[in-house]
Amino acid sequence: MKRIAILGSTGSIGVQALDVIKANPESFELEVITAHSNADLLVQQALEFKPNVVVIAREDLYEQVQQALQHEDIKVYAGSKALCSVVEMGTVDMVLTAMVGYAGLLPTIHAIKAGKQIALANKETLVVAGQLITSLAKEHGVNIYPVDSEHSAIFQCLAGEFHNPIEKIILTASGGPFRGRTAAELAEVTKAQALKHPNWDMGAKITIDSASLMNKGLEVIEAKWLFGLRNEQIEVVVHPQSIIHSLVQFEDGSIKAQLGLPDMKLPIQYALGYPNRLKSDFPRFSFLDYPQLTFEQPDLKTFRNLQLAFDAMERGGNMPCILNAANEVAVSAFLHDEVGFLQMSDIIESCMAKVAYIANPSYEDYVTTDEEARRLAAELINK
Ligand code: NDP
Ligand code: MG
Repeated sequence: MKRIAILGSTGSIGVQALDVIKANPESFELEVITAHSNADLLVQQALEFKPNVVVIAREDLYEQVQQALQHEDIKVYAGSKALCSVVEMGTVDMVLTAMVGYAGLLPTIHAIKAGKQIALANKETLVVAGQLITSLAKEHGVNIYPVDSEHSAIFQCLAGEFHNPIEKIILTASGGPFRGRTAAELAEVTKAQALKHPNWDMGAKITIDSASLMNKGLEVIEAKWLFGLRNEQIEVVVHPQSIIHSLVQFEDGSIKAQLGLPDMKLPIQYALGYPNRLKSDFPRFSFLDYPQLTFEQPDLKTFRNLQLAFDAMERGGNMPCILNAANEVAVSAFLHDEVGFLQMSDIIESCMAKVAYIANPSYEDYVTTDEEARRLAAELINK
């Protein structure tokens, strides 16, 4: 029995993780669930799954959640500090980080320091502070199991191969809803169009990141830290069908790939259940339904965010942190109709040029970098 804490149980990954836990009652026990604003769903999940602890990050919603659960044997906490303390509880074995954005960083640090195994969906954590997180994990003997489908694919390809050096990895990208568009066309795209991903149903922020290819950029940096790779060992190929989830090439030239229908439940279950493959009734993939699997180069000139992410990785230090903060602000502004699709890249590029560079950032440096980049990005938007 693995005792699980889900940070962000009300989100796209969180809800699917609860389905996985429900389908495998002999393997998992749900200990903690947390949400930010969606108190109604959090309460509904608590009543159904009976975890021992729930946390609502927004303190103004504490009363509502507490009232609704007052007759249950469930502890209710509120505030972002509570997120950091519940992951340290002795009754938790593994923490699934399914919160979105930079807010996932601090609770993940607390979980690692408490020696909890991590199932990592929150890629922003590794983008912002990959060096810090991976060295902390090493120090505390913590394994980080990827939930992101591409990284899960690579991790699955590495099973039995951990002693064999990787020559390179190839991350596949669907290309998103705007694959093949020109910059002039991208200038006109709407929020509604950007929110319609061809293959995956996900939270709003990652869906916009997928449309701009920033998601792939974040994943390149995520892969660098997860698998200890040099920058030049990471390639991206566009594969619109999203069937091959990623590939690893070894030093003998052999390439391994992991395939399946685009469904996040499988990588979630693999991370939670590792090292076991649990039986599932997820829909099965058939080659006959996909007679053509195709591949093309990503268009880095039109989709500038992917190039900016490669640049940030190349420069290292706090540059990916700047990229991430500016992107979070830009995506939120795009979702509020305050900037156009292409302006998101302008904002990120300006922040990367203007926020002070730090080659070897401490945790405090990440906090100030994040603040500074957010402030500058907001200023640029208001102009
Ligand atoms: P969603 O937006 O659907 O869900 C985000 C979750 O985080 C919600 O539970 C939300 O609570 C909570 N949350 C948001 N902000 C805060 C905050 N400041 N403090 C505490 N909790 C917060 O996101 P997704 O599930 O799509 O994505 C989650 C993470 O997983 C992201 O990092 C994403 O990149 C990654 N990922 C997602 C994939 C997917 O298929 N969705 C695939 C691969 C990776 P509430 O709902 O109450 O506001
Ligand atoms: Mg992914």
